[in-house]
Amino acid sequence: MLQFISMEEAFGEIEERAGKRLISKAQVPLEEAVGRILAEPAVAQLSIPPFNNSARDGVVLSATGIGAARSAAPIAIAGELRAGDSVEIANGVRGDAARIMTGAPVPEWGEAIVMIENLDLNDNGTVLVKQAPESGAWIRPQGSDIAEGSVILKPGRRIIPEHVQALASSGVVELVVHTKPRVGLCSTGEELVDVKSGPPGSGQIYDSNRPFMTAMMRSFGCDVVVSEHVGDTLNEMVGFLNRAMEASLDLVISSGAVSMGSYDFVKPALEAVGAEIVFHKVTQKPGKPLLFAILPNGTLYFGLPGNPVSTVVNCRFYVHYALSVMQQKPLETPLKLRLENDVDKPEGLAVFLKAQCIRGKGGAIVRALEGQESFQTMPLLEMNGWIVLSEHLGSMQAGDMVNFYPSNPRGLPDIF
Ligand code: AMP
Ligand code: MG
Repeated sequence: MLQFISMEEAFGEIEERAGKRLISKAQVPLEEAVGRILAEPAVAQLSIPPFNNSARDGVVLSATGIGAARSAAPIAIAGELRAGDSVEIANGVRGDAARIMTGAPVPEWGEAIVMIENLDLNDNGTVLVKQAPESGAWIRPQGSDIAEGSVILKPGRRIIPEHVQALASSGVVELVVHTKPRVGLCSTGEELVDVKSGPPGSGQIYDSNRPFMTAMMRSFGCDVVVSEHVGDTLNEMVGFLNRAMEASLDLVISSGAVSMGSYDFVKPALEAVGAEIVFHKVTQKPGKPLLFAILPNGTLYFGLPGNPVSTVVNCRFYVHYALSVMQQKPLETPLKLRLENDVDKPEGLAVFLKAQCIRGKGGAIVRALEGQESFQTMPLLEMNGWIVLSEHLGSMQAGDMVNFYPSNPRGLPDIF
């Protein structure tokens, strides 16, 4: 068992374990896939465009027709092509010019389209082109957008309506996506009162971690199928773990009871049911006593320290990371932003700072907010992301470039 590992090592351990526990897959109709994570490559069934077609209403010219246009000679119109006409119909029209509409197939002899605004149609069935076109003008070549048989969307991408547009046009009607991860969670602590059954008595506080964890897991696209409050006893915790294992979950998280207090029974309870403790305690602030384990049935388990901000940080970063790996999502990379204020920080400890990305004179800058202690929740209402400083860094000065992660990992496109 590892003791006190670094943030980077912790991510490495999670990646290795989560990589062996991919979330299961299901085939769904295209329109129902929005918001889900693609689990298998999407392959174009058709080329886009499927045939050479016209990008404008106007006239299609042959090479000879272009030559005639250069010498300002009228050209005979051989026919008319409309969107929906077959390629065979288009090829059956023979000559050096034909009327053509947007989306209509271009005949084999077609070299360029002249848009309607740049020509005069004469009553005697000829056309006078005002300016000769370049070869290929306003022709959308077959396969120039999407090639049949090519992988057009890779696993790990969250489906958005724009994807549906491109996928539908290339004939993809169903996608294989990851099912919603099944999550179980519990808050621990005798001092906690459910927000709905308050107010808290003397020495009690509202349980804020459980509503938070529920909301955060749902925002990550999970189904929360087990949710409990557990008192500060080993027996109760063991009971919760057994129920969690029966519910065939992908991931379990708990808040509280992982530090050094007399009632910190999460680790003993995990050991009692035969879980493997992968690591306990990360050299970071906040959320140092983070615990990561594998339950005997293979389910991933995160024991998050109970301080509200520790729970937020560890969910946002470590739990989200595990879910990303389990759904083959591309890993997040931070924005590099200029720091507005000085930040005091010891070396040897990674820190997560509640932060606000703001519009500066020369572009976006980032400000570390007041109130960085792990019990201080007011800045959570102001922040829009986190400054993350690795353990290798010391104090930072205004003007330094720092790593910034938005509060919502989906606040930016998945690929960035
Ligand atoms: P623990 O990790 O159990 O030692 O708790 C650390 C601090 O977080 C204590 O001040 C707890 O009262 C507080 N805390 C623990 N769980 C919660 C929770 N679910 N909601 C709000 N505060 C909590
Ligand atoms: Mg506690």
